[in-house]
Order: sequence, then structure tokens, then C-alpha cells
Amino acid sequence: MHFDYVIVGGGAAGCCLAGRLSEDPDKNVCLIEAGPRDNDPRIKVPLGLVFLMGNSRFDWCYQSAPHAHMNGRKVPIPRGKTLGGSGSINSMVYIRGRPSDYDAWARLGCKGWDWEAVLPYFIKAESNRRLAGDPLHGTAGPMTVEDLRSPDPMLERYVAAGEELGIPGNRDFNGETQEGLGTYQVNMRKGRRWSAADAYLRPAGNRKNLHIVTDTEVESIDFDGKVARRVKLRGRNQEHFIGIDERLILCAGAFGTPALLLRSGIGPADHLHEMRIPVVHELPGVGENLHDHPAAAIFYQGGHGGRGLSFATMHEYAAAPLLYLLARRGVFASNLVEGGGFARTDASLADPDVQFHFIPAKVSHEGARITWGRGYYSDACVLKPVSRGRLRLASPAIADDPIIDLNLLAEPQDRQTLLRGVKLVRRILASPTLSGSGAVEVFPGPAVQGDDELLQYIFEILGTAFHPVGTCRMGDAADPMTVVDPDLRLRGLDNVVVADASVMPEIVAGNTHAPTIMIAEVAADRIRQVRQAGNGSG
Ligand SMILES: Cc1cc2nc3c(=O)[nH]c(=O)nc-3n(C[C@H](O)[C@H](O)[C@H](O)COP(=O)(O)OP(=O)(O)OC[C@H]3O[C@@H](n4cnc5c(N)ncnc54)[C@H](O)[C@@H]3O)c2cc1C
Repeated sequence: MHFDYVIVGGGAAGCCLAGRLSEDPDKNVCLIEAGPRDNDPRIKVPLGLVFLMGNSRFDWCYQSAPHAHMNGRKVPIPRGKTLGGSGSINSMVYIRGRPSDYDAWARLGCKGWDWEAVLPYFIKAESNRRLAGDPLHGTAGPMTVEDLRSPDPMLERYVAAGEELGIPGNRDFNGETQEGLGTYQVNMRKGRRWSAADAYLRPAGNRKNLHIVTDTEVESIDFDGKVARRVKLRGRNQEHFIGIDERLILCAGAFGTPALLLRSGIGPADHLHEMRIPVVHELPGVGENLHDHPAAAIFYQGGHGGRGLSFATMHEYAAAPLLYLLARRGVFASNLVEGGGFARTDASLADPDVQFHFIPAKVSHEGARITWGRGYYSDACVLKPVSRGRLRLASPAIADDPIIDLNLLAEPQDRQTLLRGVKLVRRILASPTLSGSGAVEVFPGPAVQGDDELLQYIFEILGTAFHPVGTCRMGDAADPMTVVDPDLRLRGLDNVVVADASVMPEIVAGNTHAPTIMIAEVAADRIRQVRQAGNGSG
């Protein structure tokens, strides 16, 4: 079997590219995904997300390496493993980041990625059901964006609590101003999860030139000189290969893509030697520059209102399946992370430095799961962390998870930002407008007050917002640590493109799904342009 375009990873970016590139009937496209198809109802029904994280059928269930500076703490790292990728297990929050994120990418050598250049691609991908007519939004793209159909009334009190502290309400975090609190818009269509698989693959389902392979992991890439000739598939008794006629497109995500490159002999030479993997091409930046939004939360219990599971809400849950089936409303249509927003922890800052994710339900502080009882929860996360980690192989064997050294909060600046963010979140949640119903803070609890104690708490509870990026960073060819050029071509190799969250040179100030789709839309256009220019293997 061989195809013009072979795409590895059927996640957010991979589904977009498979859909876009197979629009050309003259091109045969093969999409290879390690996980299963995404037809499980727990993926489609928004509240089903509580059954996806930590479920090894749909989640790679990674763990970070221990953080030496945080008492050896390991951080859980969920990653989607099904068509739609992490976008099939995520919270569906639709955020693009802000213009200055992309202008900074351009300054870092990513020519053609400034805000003016990328905005049309956000618009192209988007079908916004509320903001029609707004020049910043699209209404005809494949990715549906809508308001929550049944937002919990607690959200109104949450926004009011912010206003009491001078943080404005915000109805469009992707509009002129990012700052403020509000209800998030989500990637749903009529109350149902709308992943990149729904948006780009489903409409392409009958195309004869699109071949989708699931439950199949790509183990490595075979090169002939600097040209990728075929990919080797894992888990078969015999060796199986898929041939590449024109281009190999890597969309395996911020961990899957660098791990595959390293297993194939592309990366830092010292690490490849250590792993006894023959060096095909030395690229020292592969696996470096790993970063994510470090996050820590405050937990409230008790009171009334919210999505809580309790005797008082039993009738709501009993009626929920029917209400969802008939009207796609009610608690089953909730993404749980219903609200949040962006704030400046220091009035002298020009832009927000923290983001919040607010859940109007009682969340267990062990593993961040919804548990019996009433309450609410919000995290704060650092929008522009400066700490950097790295991904390395534990062994050349695909069966061994890579070593993911997140190195969160290594830099004092990130600790201070998170500390200020957690203090701010604490003030919002403590507002009588929210807590007046009798809810009390249980973690960290009123006894924890001083900065040192609060920082200790942060170290114990620390997680991420699940937005890893940067491990195959895009940039100027003159910088030896860049992995792909501004056309997303792997440096020094002829026909390999990387297009997923791994290419972000710096994380955006917000959730990363929409930016990843934007990257894939740009990649599809550039690949087609190169072909039209008659430079098929460039
Ligand atoms: C629990 C969770 C909640 C999140 N919430 C939000 C949110 O609310 N809003 C938001 O904007 N972002 C959110 N994100 C982040 C967002 O989903 C990701 O940034 C985005 O999906 C990244 O897209 P990607 O294409 O780079 O990778 P993914 O979407 O992760 O796709 C990578 C795909 O490659 C496959 N793969 C990996 N290795 C191989 C291999 N060797 N062979 C074949 N296939 C392979 C994987 O199985 C996966 O399907 C969340 C993420 C998680 C995990």
C-alpha cells in the first residue's frame, strides 16, 4: 500500500489535514491513528468526558517524570487516543489565544504566522452559531462553535463575583478583549461534542481517495537518504509498511511526534547514541522546548446549586438522559468546565497573565474527578510560562512510554505568577455572591494563608491545563534548535512535514485546540500551494 500523502495521528490536526488534502480527488491520502474509532457515546455526549480521562482505551494516560524541585511530584498527563485525538476527550473550550501570541511567533522567525496572517485560517475553520456578522469570527467553517445550551446558573454568580473585584464580564474571549470572566464557547454542535473528526472526516467519509486506518500505531519511519519512503506499523506478527509517494505529515501531537522522530533516528545525536538508534539526521531541537500551562486549583464543598451529585439533584440526573435525547439540554450537555476567563494579577501588566477554568460542581482534589456532593472549583494557570522541559525516549522500544520531563515551575517567575493567580482565584471563589449558599473552601482550606504555605500547597496539587506544545518547534532556519521551518517542513529532510501542537514555538495565551486546527489549516494550504507550484517534493 502506498499513498501520495501519509498522515500519522488522527487527532485534531491529523483529521483536519486528512479532510482538506483529500478534497483533491487526484491525491490518495492515508490517515493512521493509534486509537480506535470515535463512535463511543461517551465521546459524543459532552458530560461523557468524565469517563474518558484515565480510560486507557481513549487516553494514553501518561505521567510526567518526577519534579525534583517539588518533592518528586509526578503530574498526570491525559492525551487522546482515538479519532479526533485529544479533541475527542477534551473539555471543548474554544479559545484562540491573542494576537500578540502570533506576532511573537513571527518575531521568533516564523515568517507568515503573525496575527494578520493566521486570523483568516481561524475564521476559515470556524462556524460560530452566536457571533454571525462579527468580522473576527467565521460562520461557514467545519468546526462548530456554540454557547452552552444549559449553562449552570452558578455561572452568573461567578461572573458577578469577579465584577465585585473589578474583573469585567466577557461574552467573547476571542473578540477584541480577552480579559474578563464568563461562560466559555465550546466546540459542540446542537449540544453534542464536535471534534475535528466530526468536522473534517465525517464529510469526507465516502471519498475513495481517503483511507483511514485505526488501532494502528506507527513505530518508525524508513528513510532513503533524506527522503522518507515508508512508515512501519506496530503490533503485527509480520512487518507491515505503508509507502509514501509524495509527503509524510506528522500529526501525532506534542509527545507522539517527537517520540516517533527519535525512534526513527532524527533528533539530538547524543540521545540517539545513548539509545543505540542509528542517526539518520541530527536535529538537536527534537523533544526540547516542552512547555504547558501549569495549573493549581481551589476546591469548595457544600452549599447548593451547581451540577453536584446529591440527593437534592437526583431527580435532575434521573431526567437527564431523556432531556438530552429529546432536546440535547440539561446536565448531559455540560462540558463541566463551563466558565472561566482571563485576568491580570498585577494592574501594571498590559495583558492577562493567568486563565481560570471554573467547574460548578464538587471536584475531588485526588485526581480532579467529580464526586458526590455539592461545591465548585476553579484553577488558575500561568498563560506564558518561561520554564521549559523536554521529551526523551526511555528505550528504543515503542512499548515504553517516553520520559516526559515537564519541569513545571522550574523558574521562579512562573511560581510567582501562579501564586498570584491562585490568590486571585481564591478571592473570587470566596465572594459571598458565590459562597453565600454555605459552601466552604476545603483545599487548601483556611489554615493555609502565607505565601510559603500556599506555594507548598501549589507544589502538592500542581497539574497542567493539558496543553503541551513546543517539542518540534518552528522557527528560523538559522537557529539550530528549530525543528521545522515556517512552511512546517522538517529541517534537512526532503518530504516530511510536521503539523500539530508540537510546532508552536511558544504556547499561546489560552487553550490549544483551536490554534492547532489553525496550524493544520495553514499546513494544508501550504502543501497544496507547493504542489500547484510544481515543486512536489520540496
Ligand atoms: C483532557 C484534556 C482536556 C483539554 N481541554 C481542552 C479544551 O477544553 N480546549 C482546548 O482548546 N484544548 C484542550 N485540550 C488540548 C487540545 O485538545 C490539544 O491541544 C489538541 O488536541 C492538540 O492537537 P494535536 O493534533 O497536536 O494532538 P492530538 O489531538 O492529541 O492528536 C494526536 C493523535 O496522534 C495519535 N498518535 C500518537 N502517536 C501515534 C503513532 N505513533 N501512530 C499513530 N497515531 C499516533 C494519538 O492517538 C492522537 O489521536 C485538552 C486536552 C486534554 C487531553
